[in-house]
Amino acid sequence: MGKASPSQSNAALGALTSSLGSSVMLKKEDRYAASMDNLRLSVMPDAVVRPADEVELKEMLRLANKYGVPVTTRGGGSAATGATTPLHGGWVLDLSHWQSIDIDTTLGLAKVHPGVRTAALQRAAEAEGLFYPPDPSSAEFCTIGGNIATNAGGLRAAKYGTTRDYVVALRGFLPTGEPVRWGAPLKKCATGFNLRDLWIGSEGMLGIITEATLKLIPKPKARYTFLVAFKDEIAALSAIRRLMESRLLPAALEFMDRQTVACAERYSKEEAFPSLPGQALVLIELDGHPSAIDDERKQLSAWAKSEAIAFEEADAGGAERLWRIRRICSQAMFELGDAKLNEDIVIPPQSYEALLIFTQELGASFNLPTPTFGHAADGNFHVHIMYHRSNEDACKRAEEALQVLMEKVIALGGVISGEHGIGLAKSSFFTLQHSTAEIEAMQSIKRALDPKNILNPGKMFTPTRVWDYRAESFRLPWDHA
Ligand SMILES: Cc1cc2nc3c(=O)[nH]c(=O)nc-3n(C[C@H](O)[C@H](O)[C@H](O)COP(=O)(O)OP(=O)(O)OC[C@H]3O[C@@H](n4cnc5c(N)ncnc54)[C@H](O)[C@@H]3O)c2cc1C
Repeated sequence: MGKASPSQSNAALGALTSSLGSSVMLKKEDRYAASMDNLRLSVMPDAVVRPADEVELKEMLRLANKYGVPVTTRGGGSAATGATTPLHGGWVLDLSHWQSIDIDTTLGLAKVHPGVRTAALQRAAEAEGLFYPPDPSSAEFCTIGGNIATNAGGLRAAKYGTTRDYVVALRGFLPTGEPVRWGAPLKKCATGFNLRDLWIGSEGMLGIITEATLKLIPKPKARYTFLVAFKDEIAALSAIRRLMESRLLPAALEFMDRQTVACAERYSKEEAFPSLPGQALVLIELDGHPSAIDDERKQLSAWAKSEAIAFEEADAGGAERLWRIRRICSQAMFELGDAKLNEDIVIPPQSYEALLIFTQELGASFNLPTPTFGHAADGNFHVHIMYHRSNEDACKRAEEALQVLMEKVIALGGVISGEHGIGLAKSSFFTLQHSTAEIEAMQSIKRALDPKNILNPGKMFTPTRVWDYRAESFRLPWDHA
């Protein structure tokens, strides 16, 4: 779908405002706030629609199909890839105000609206002695609808998996406006094709989620945290692999390279290990029953003694101090450049060291810092390429370095995204990852469900040079955090 003609857009907007009244927002500031996500690539929509209920949502979809208006669904707008940018204008469907949570403590299920913030669900579950494990770092800002549409991961995916592992059932609308329900709010359901899983991770291109039933599990009774320092990245990564082979399954296993740690220590003006500044670090969190943790803690202590140059450990009371460096490292690396490419790649364990050697060489050959940290137990490393936006040559080098990185990830048997998705940012690399037959199969599903290409057009399959757009300097909610 391309842009609608001005007269078509005006007729569509007229019909929308007369049907939905005050649920349609036309002010420039409202449209600008809905024009981008965390990639900061802004395209102005004609309107932002905040439907009061499903009746209004359905009517909006009817009009969008009638007039051929693109619709981009929006939750917290925190996506990293431009998936939430209304690339072809049209209407942004904002569901961030749909926020009800209903917990069934007998079945351990939560029925939630798509605008519920992930952290709000975590807190509601904990109040009932239950646990919603998916834990993206953006949990205070992102929504369940966005998490499902991107299959968000996070810090606890090592042990608990990603959002997909907790979605029991979905309700919502097909792009053509028919209401549908995939799965059922029950413990078991084996009826028909599994279109629920097709919607998960489909980046708002195959349907609109209006309700999700999510699995909750018993809240772990105890946690225990280790912060471990290594002489370099290779020592840390090979020790991590041996830990994984020992079958110990921590809730979090976070790696930070020396560039990242040095930035974080300068930012916080405090060293993780005062006598050993700037070392490669690994943060490990165990959770579970206290007696199981006790055993695992001994095993982990023995591992750290034999592999590391220093380590510290803490129970729940002291854990935050050990987590501090990990929590600030994303922000701290802006001392190396005012812009970063944050690539959430995944590689198999046998390639961990090769990836780190490669990122260091990449940084040296393109003369750009490449601090790397990530979720080591699932191979989901965040490789950052830092540069200054005002430096045209550095921008060009960053673009070239990114292409080389993506090719290397594929060569190492990896994937170009483990949790952020494709959106616009990774659309240029989609054909590196998928064959023509695979992409055609995906496109035929898109055509079948969305014959008029209404929902989120221009994403994933169409390579977009994000470089050709100016990144907005607008402050987003998490920038203040
Ligand atoms: C500081 C920061 C830290 C982050 N950390 C992590 C992390 O640890 N792990 C991780 O996985 N991601 C992380 N992210 C990325 C981002 O938070 C996730 O991708 C998140 O799932 C997006 O949720 P959202 O509500 O903001 O979605 P949005 O940005 O609003 O939308 C994302 C996509 O979902 C679609 N969508 C939204 N709602 C619906 C709906 N109801 N129905 C259908 N489609 C819908 C949109 O069209 C879009 O394609 C981080 C981002 C930031 C800014």
